[in-house]
Amino acid sequence: MANQGPYKDFFDIKVAKRKVLKRKRNKSFWLLISFPLILFTGFVFLIETNKNTVILSLFGHLPYEEIDKNNLIEVQPGISVHEDMYNDLLAMQRDAERDGVFLVFLSGYRSIELQKEIFFYLKSIRNQIASERARVSAPPGFSEHSTGFAIDIGDATNRATDFEVEFENTRAFNWLETNAAKYHFRLSFDKDHQSVDYEPWHWRYEGSVEALRIFNSESELK
Ligand SMILES: [Zn+2]
Repeated sequence: MANQGPYKDFFDIKVAKRKVLKRKRNKSFWLLISFPLILFTGFVFLIETNKNTVILSLFGHLPYEEIDKNNLIEVQPGISVHEDMYNDLLAMQRDAERDGVFLVFLSGYRSIELQKEIFFYLKSIRNQIASERARVSAPPGFSEHSTGFAIDIGDATNRATDFEVEFENTRAFNWLETNAAKYHFRLSFDKDHQSVDYEPWHWRYEGSVEALRIFNSESELK
């Protein structure tokens, strides 16, 4: 009865309509399938992003690569720095001396291997957990000293303040605070730094593009 007489055309239309309906169901089906896929992709993306955040810093210290040894130059017996900052560092020391201030360099480039010994050895003998140790020393691979662009400075007339916060009361620190920027040096860990304790003796260079490139993400940790 359905394909006969005056209803023939009517039922042809019904078949065509059914095809359209079928296509609509297919669309919903794919939407249902793709929704969990989109969710899954989102989760993977979030996990990957968090992974990157963890790798980015460790206890507030950023990762730094070790300088190519060919770019190191000795600035004082036993103390080497990146060749880019050699002239500015010596000029700063010489000009301070003219003002009657005597800067002594305490530590420059340190290999990741040496930083490993410093970090874990001192952590052990001082009975500190890693997060405590990291407030005063960078974990290996996360020290500005491995770049050759960091220098620890003391007052040659007041060696008792070497690596001590009391260094901030010396003439050397006072002079550096006023003049260091002229030679492209700045404090790395000032009193406002959230993750690392104040280190008035630790200065870093920002007088070459390479130095700036290495340190340019530092502000993210503030
Ligand atoms: Zn230092």
